[in-house]
Amino acid sequence: MATLELNELTKIYDDAQGREVAVDSLDIDIEDGEFLVLVGPSGCGKSTTLRMLAGLETVTDGTIEIGGTEVQHLAPSARSIAMVFQSYALYTKMTARQNMAYGLKHSTDLSKAERNREVEDIAELLDITELLDDKPDEMSGGQKQRVALGRAIVRDPDVFLLDEPLSNLDAKLRARMRTELQQLQTDLDVTAVYVTHDQTEAMTMADRIAVMNDGELQQVAPPEVAYDHPANEFVATFLGSPSMNTFETVAVENGDEIEFRHDGTTLAAVPHDTVECADGEPMTLGLRPEDVRLSDDPTDGTFAADVTVSEYQGNDNFIHLSVEKHDLMARVPSDVYPNPGETLGVTVSPRDVFLFDADSGIAHKTRGLPDEQPPKRSVSNP
Ligand code: ADP
Repeated sequence: MATLELNELTKIYDDAQGREVAVDSLDIDIEDGEFLVLVGPSGCGKSTTLRMLAGLETVTDGTIEIGGTEVQHLAPSARSIAMVFQSYALYTKMTARQNMAYGLKHSTDLSKAERNREVEDIAELLDITELLDDKPDEMSGGQKQRVALGRAIVRDPDVFLLDEPLSNLDAKLRARMRTELQQLQTDLDVTAVYVTHDQTEAMTMADRIAVMNDGELQQVAPPEVAYDHPANEFVATFLGSPSMNTFETVAVENGDEIEFRHDGTTLAAVPHDTVECADGEPMTLGLRPEDVRLSDDPTDGTFAADVTVSEYQGNDNFIHLSVEKHDLMARVPSDVYPNPGETLGVTVSPRDVFLFDADSGIAHKTRGLPDEQPPKRSVSNP
């Protein structure tokens, strides 16, 4: 395994259709054994980045270093990488065993017996021993993805690249494979770059996530840091389901507090020393649905809002509200199930208020208060 460094990595497509900056000067240092998830909406440049790392796409500018050696000019086969694709990309005429052994045959001088032993060891790890003599069209999607993973692992590369490997699987299998992949990554201690547009996948699997938008890197951070302390409004609203509520507000000084008003209604107030902003400055207020607390009494709380829809979810409910004709989503315990038309009181604690520059979207306040101890969290990767 090895470190992987992307230095000002850039890809510009310049063809008859025009000029497109698909990846704009990406800088990311990935540690040895780290699982980095590249996440962002469709078209943000994730696949292009991965394809440049794999050598399937030329680099317009910048460098890629694996273990300190520049590789951007090397052919894919000379890079010590293995890639797992969404489409599995298995050879349909070969058995699982032949598919897995194929790369070894071409990249090592192992004997046939040695190759077989390697394949069988990895098959056991992935619980696919009984599939080794089957061909892909005899396998389910999940089984094919396991064989594709096995084919990558058996080559023992320095870096794994995974391009939306779970997106062709149904929801249940996807959740199971997500857990298995995490376990596998911990066991193998591999350096991996995993691309997905699915923020749940990103949040649950990553050591760190790299959030991209429009070819540009927005933030690289452990998932809980990006969630609680997003660099900007884009990251804040991209991460989290349901996504963060945002309101265009104006800051108004009121004694020791600064209030944030939307169409004359005060939606939140925070102590003066919490955020730097001038009286009258426009600010985007962000409230996560799970931080919106509801009360039966409309006069209880910071403002009142009307229930438009209650969505029963089982373990919790999503309550859609309207405040000054603006939608507000609350995520509440399952025993809170108000009727449409009811008017409720809404409270948001100052520590849960997020504020972003109204023009640039840069975060001015994220979760917490200045003197507060960070809440205790158990860390999965100490
Ligand atoms: P993602 O994987 O995040 O969905 P891509 O990396 O596939 O995004 O694409 C990033 C941008 O580059 C998009 O605007 C896409 O249209 C453009 N793009 C990708 N491949 C090509 C190509 N071969 N020629 C021209 N533009 C391309």
